Amino acid sequence: MVKIQFLKSQIPVRKIINRFKMWDLVFGIFPSIFVKIKYQILKDTAKHQGLRNQLVSVLEQKGITDKNVLAAIKKIPRHLFLNSSFEDYAYQDKAFPIGAGQTISQPYTVAFQSQLLEIQKEHKVLEIGTGSGYQTAVLCMMGAKVFSVERQNELFKSTSLLFPKLNIRPKHLSFGDGYKGLPSYAPFDSIIVTAGAPFIPQPLMSQLKIGGRLVIPLGEEVQIMTLLIRKNETQFEKHEFGEFRFVPLLEDKN
Ligand code: SAH
Repeated sequence: MVKIQFLKSQIPVRKIINRFKMWDLVFGIFPSIFVKIKYQILKDTAKHQGLRNQLVSVLEQKGITDKNVLAAIKKIPRHLFLNSSFEDYAYQDKAFPIGAGQTISQPYTVAFQSQLLEIQKEHKVLEIGTGSGYQTAVLCMMGAKVFSVERQNELFKSTSLLFPKLNIRPKHLSFGDGYKGLPSYAPFDSIIVTAGAPFIPQPLMSQLKIGGRLVIPLGEEVQIMTLLIRKNETQFEKHEFGEFRFVPLLEDKN
């Protein structure tokens, strides 16, 4: 048998090879599987870009005209906001479950609400219902300073961890009850509620700047997309934009 001089001891070649195999497993294959999983989760390819371009065309056909909204949707990798096994659904114009009994809003709904907000660069925007973070990301991409509140702790934690990985930087993320708004950061240029509300929470109205816009789906089973524009201290102008379906805006955090 061939022997190799290995410091003081003599180790058979077969043993060395076996040892390498073991270390290969520990430092080679396992990490490479891990890297592959991570890589898949955060991969944004030309194929994804192509699907996004198609999605934007669908949204244009459905009546979305705000160039800023369409440009943001073209850039934000929606598939990275879904569990990677559902990647194929990411660029269909559909809502999708994201865990904790919640959904990522349909792209058309995200686009429609974002368009109603009439975002300008550096606008302070309050979002109620961070969820997957997709709507937050679209608003950030449009140049808004986004303050977002989520009542489900599980979602709050997972989405808070996702943003930095995607280099998306909301101004403030909060675990709490959106019915109360975020009084310490008010007033806001606009407020978007991404869950179906049975009524308009008073704190949200009072945290809106004069001239500011509040977009909120109102109703229990089906919601009417509603826009309030604050005219002065006491008066709001109300506009309605047809039916949408959202998960309910629930009281208290969980
Ligand atoms: N904007 C999200 C939509 C998620 S669905 C996205 O793009 O994925 C609505 C979200 O609102 C859910 O995550 C739900 O937990 C949250 N929500 C419901 N009631 C809430 C409340 N009172 N305060 C804050 N978030 C609430």
